[in-house]
Amino acid sequence: MRLLEEKIRKDGKVLNENVLKVDSFLNHQIDANLMNEVGKEFAQRFAGEGITKIVTIESSGIAPAVMAGLYMNVPVIFARKRKSLTLTDDLLTARVHSFTKNETNELAIARKYVKKNDKVLIIDDFLANGQAALALVEMVHNAGASVAGIGIVIEKSFQPGAQILKEQGLRVESLARIASLSNGEVTFITDKMEEVIQ
Ligand code: 5GP
Repeated sequence: MRLLEEKIRKDGKVLNENVLKVDSFLNHQIDANLMNEVGKEFAQRFAGEGITKIVTIESSGIAPAVMAGLYMNVPVIFARKRKSLTLTDDLLTARVHSFTKNETNELAIARKYVKKNDKVLIIDDFLANGQAALALVEMVHNAGASVAGIGIVIEKSFQPGAQILKEQGLRVESLARIASLSNGEVTFITDKMEEVIQ
């Protein structure tokens, strides 16, 4: 998605060769116009999949997920990182380890929001090692529902997440795909690189 790549080039900050900071438009301050386009793009890519719900993780997944929900006209559920729901709730849970923050969180979704016949689109801001997406997949499957696909705003393709998810037969659509963050620079996957990979 060209608009997103331009924004990353202009305002993304390469912290080190593994981490990209996008606090100025996605993770802290949010560029609502860009998120609108991101939501529209997800809706186009997953049109015809019969999606009934979107599931994401608080907090950075919420903005792109809500915009996609608006265009797809489906409810959006965000997994909470702690069991802040009341104890009487019947919860779907999974544990997720974040390598960037070096912390493990328990994710929770109230079971009543994901039903057996739901076709779920999972959305997140970044895809790195795939742990966050896999935890969401696990929760959706535990509800007896199916995963129609995974929509990612920024995929770091040099990390294993995308491949792990695709090997599980999951459809992954990433709007920006980063080949490298070496030398303080963002290099995107080009069509030429794509041919070599395939
Ligand atoms: P994964 O579970 O795929 O390893 O990592 C995904 C999660 O880690 C995302 O939800 C995101 O919050 C965080 N994350 C991973 N890599 C980056 C990064 O380069 N920059 C930022 N800001 N967050 C990241």
